[in-house]
Amino acid sequence: MSEAQIDLNAFRAEVRGWLADNLPPELRQAHKRATSVFVEKEYNLAWQAILLRKGWVAPHWPAEHGGTGWNETQRYIFASECARAGAPSLAPMGLKMVAPVIMKYGSDAQKGYYLPKLLAGEHYWCQGYSEPQAGSDLAALQLRADSDGDHYVLNGSKIWTTHAHVANHMFCLVRTDRDGRPQEGITFLLLEMATPGISVKPIISIAGDHDFNQVFFDNVRVPKANRLGDEGKGWTVAKTLLEYERAAAYAAGLIEALAEVRAAAKDAELLNEPTIRRRIAELDSQVRTIHAVEDMVLAAIGEGRDPGPASSMLKVQGTECQQKIQELAVDVAGIYAAPYQYEARQAGSNTGYVGPESALTATARYFNGRAASIYGGSNEIQRNIMAKLVLGL
Ligand SMILES: Cc1cc2nc3c(=O)[nH]c(=O)nc-3n(C[C@H](O)[C@H](O)[C@H](O)COP(=O)(O)OP(=O)(O)OC[C@H]3O[C@@H](n4cnc5c(N)ncnc54)[C@H](O)[C@@H]3O)c2cc1C
Repeated sequence: MSEAQIDLNAFRAEVRGWLADNLPPELRQAHKRATSVFVEKEYNLAWQAILLRKGWVAPHWPAEHGGTGWNETQRYIFASECARAGAPSLAPMGLKMVAPVIMKYGSDAQKGYYLPKLLAGEHYWCQGYSEPQAGSDLAALQLRADSDGDHYVLNGSKIWTTHAHVANHMFCLVRTDRDGRPQEGITFLLLEMATPGISVKPIISIAGDHDFNQVFFDNVRVPKANRLGDEGKGWTVAKTLLEYERAAAYAAGLIEALAEVRAAAKDAELLNEPTIRRRIAELDSQVRTIHAVEDMVLAAIGEGRDPGPASSMLKVQGTECQQKIQELAVDVAGIYAAPYQYEARQAGSNTGYVGPESALTATARYFNGRAASIYGGSNEIQRNIMAKLVLGL
């Protein structure tokens, strides 16, 4: 159906009504209190199960694989209504990152096996890209995969692996060849975290949260049938996946986050403070610009085109605007944003805390938000990509 034929007001009303009836208060509260980069597995999977029953889990997937068949505007309306209602976000590693590359590079057997389990939340994924000596320079990765009959045998380590402690699957870049250009010997594998020889060690963030880990591989046997694409051609798959990772939807969440800070500033009687007013106004215009870039990027995905370097532009703008909103939230919260409020946040209201609820999360979100310009390829690397591919430098 073309955009002109769809009654977008009726669609918005339908989504809003459904969210009012189906988003449980405990999931709304989990989202409100969330400070980490990702919402905890128990909450995002609980929300995924509710969306699954309605058929709304994966608006960006093609309808043939279980997508909604919505156009760009409908997808944006859905995202903004979810943000407005305070719905928890779904973990992106499966639905938004590995799914599109399975659709593009997977065999029919792989698509038939993985995609339904991804939709159902049965497979919960983590991303095995970074290593202790390979972050921005990802092609320097060394996790060794030696051929042994119809298996690869993996030895080495991955680091900063978000949710590896709760995931049951990992998509992983391994080195199958040490000769030639570094990009040429990389292979993309899909593996089960329960495979013998895998161990996961927690890394606790500055805000006290356990999101990421170091993962060790000690003679881990992975069937060659779990390879996505050809041996030694994993770099192409890896780069495509990163474009999808960076092409996250930012605008709807930013609009809500800015509205929250504005409300907190109003409660604190700070809206007449000139610097606060100026910062809110500047952020408001930035968010609108991001919305426009996002439309362009998500339209490309909707039409089955890879997002390309525009996803780098979106990542830089989206994450830096998010950080500025988080900084403003800390300034608005004032003394209530002191880091010791972490305990109050964990313990709820029994600690004698008397400040506004919005201040409880401000500092932890600010700390965790620093990560946004690092993960998915740091913003400096995104600027390098734009310089090369957009400006031709
Ligand atoms: C919260 C969080 C979650 C993450 N989750 C995952 C995950 O699930 N899976 C995963 O594989 N990885 C994950 N990462 C790792 C992330 O991808 C890397 O941290 C990132 O790619 C940067 O690599 P690095 O940390 O090794 O820093 P480095 O590459 O050592 O970079 C250090 C600094 O130097 C700058 N720099 C490096 N090279 C250049 C250059 N050529 N030009 C200009 N500046 C440069 C960088 O921008 C950065 O500021 C996560 C990271 C964070 C913070």
